[in-house]
Amino acid sequence: IVIDAGHGGQDPGAIGDKKIYEKNVTLAAAKELKKQLEESGRYRVYLTRDKDVFIKLGDRVKIARKYGADLFVSLHADSIDNHNVRGASIYTLSNTASDKQTEKLAARENKVDLIGGVDLSHEDKDVANILIDLAMRDTMNQSKFFANTVVGKMSASQIKILERPHRYAGFAVLKAADIPSVLIEMGFMSNNKEAQALSSPAYRAQIAKAMKSGIDAYFDKVQKNNKN
Ligand code: ZN
Repeated sequence: IVIDAGHGGQDPGAIGDKKIYEKNVTLAAAKELKKQLEESGRYRVYLTRDKDVFIKLGDRVKIARKYGADLFVSLHADSIDNHNVRGASIYTLSNTASDKQTEKLAARENKVDLIGGVDLSHEDKDVANILIDLAMRDTMNQSKFFANTVVGKMSASQIKILERPHRYAGFAVLKAADIPSVLIEMGFMSNNKEAQALSSPAYRAQIAKAMKSGIDAYFDKVQKNNKN
């Protein structure tokens, strides 16, 4: 399993009240999830980054491929003008975003590669289109199944989730054709309460626990299918 802590280095991601940076929240959450998964003894877990460094979106996918990941989980925390909105959501890849808000989010998350220096957005697009075409239906279905499993576990463990929590968007980081991949927006940095919660180890442990249950259930099903 490769866990990707969103943003990092000169890219802080969304910034919440009291200077809570998304890049720090995602890193802390990634480390917590890694710890919980490793404690189970069932998984080998790698992080795309374990410190505050900038990594291009394409390189994050390359890291997942390098480790031969069976699952890629990218962690983020969203931001929106309406500060009352809170709740987690999970994204899987699609050519067409589920709505305007989702499209804006994907554009914002994808833009960070420009910060790193060279503008790869043009090249990325061609590569991305080919990858999307090549993406096996199977991988997409597995990603979708995993997303819905995590949504179920989150709502069962009293974590606030958005209405229609499983959404579709063209996140660059989800474009591995052969690795089931999801992007989890753990909550909203723009909501004070949620930004505070996300900066607390106790809440992150709770979210990580729900994500781990989702991962367990996912691999239970994968193993069962492989036996049949
Ligand atoms: Zn983000």
